[in-house]
Amino acid sequence: MSSDSYTQDDPRIRPIAPSRYPWTPLSPSSSADDVVKVSLILTSAVIAPTNMLTSFDTGEEKTELPCHAVLIEKGDEAMLFDLGLREDAENFPEPMHHTLLKIMGTRSAPGPIKTLQREKYNLDRLKSVIISHKHFDHCGDIDTLPLSDRPIILGPGSLQSIGPGYPKDPKGQWHSEWFDKYRFVELPSTDHKGEWSGEVTTVIPCSGQRRWERVGCFDNGLDWFGDGSFWLIDAPGHCAGHVMALCRVTAQPDTYVLLAGDAAHHQNMYLPIPTSECDLRSPKPVIDGKVMFAEDPVQATYVIGQLTRMSIEDNVMVLLAHEKEAIGVVDYFPEDICRWKEKGWKEEKQKNVLEDAIKRAQI
Ligand SMILES: [Zn+2]
Repeated sequence: MSSDSYTQDDPRIRPIAPSRYPWTPLSPSSSADDVVKVSLILTSAVIAPTNMLTSFDTGEEKTELPCHAVLIEKGDEAMLFDLGLREDAENFPEPMHHTLLKIMGTRSAPGPIKTLQREKYNLDRLKSVIISHKHFDHCGDIDTLPLSDRPIILGPGSLQSIGPGYPKDPKGQWHSEWFDKYRFVELPSTDHKGEWSGEVTTVIPCSGQRRWERVGCFDNGLDWFGDGSFWLIDAPGHCAGHVMALCRVTAQPDTYVLLAGDAAHHQNMYLPIPTSECDLRSPKPVIDGKVMFAEDPVQATYVIGQLTRMSIEDNVMVLLAHEKEAIGVVDYFPEDICRWKEKGWKEEKQKNVLEDAIKRAQI
């Protein structure tokens, strides 16, 4: 499918009504332990042309986006979901300097490992790293990971799309040496409907079956701990292997955070807007016939609709990897974001975006 064959109002990339998504209820927690603790860590920021992020006019030519890494803790064990943007941009593989980094700027800040070390966090607790997808602003300072034996988990099809890295691939966006140094483990294809076997089962702590299952409006989720507290969600479209994470952060009442990676890059792409004559949510931005940030625009549009569907749930807060409205609203590590509902953060971070959309509806 060619990404240059779309127009801004192409019906194939219009938002899908939330009511059209199938729904599998989120199973209730059975004890207060059926949760994970989620903490956000800011890394270097990326500065991108705004019209790559949203087709709505936000009044800004360029937007500085935070790149979030996320610490997930359960009992004595921890993992990182995404590593953000690396601190030393000069050490990106050479081809990056001639492609994406010509369009996007960066503002340097410490990576998650440095931040954890600064807070004297015991890095032995880190059992694995999950990378939502292959892009440069999510794999961060892989080089700084202190425990090279800990698995780095990737979504289905990631390794093939990453290739052997640079310099083995002259256009590679990863360093070839990472493949020698680290243990990458890829989740099975979603075509595999049965129970999983092989190496992947050794890195997933759940003691029961490991398989893709339906959860919420998602067709393929992996119940990481087997208690419904942390689901890895297959969500391609932005790129091959893109995964999200649905985290139960409080039990009884159960509340969730959906770490949505790069399924969208601005809240106005997914926020459920009060029903009106026309749907105000933005379709994928299409600039000069080119779809931005979506290898498969139809699939990406479907996933954005899933964010909308999840966001309609009172007990779910969606959070994009680059959601800039989170800054100044939510707490950052060493604090956690588990009490978001009590603190009203969902409403607070979407307030201005929603007001803007409603104003637009009245024009
Ligand atoms: Zn990104």
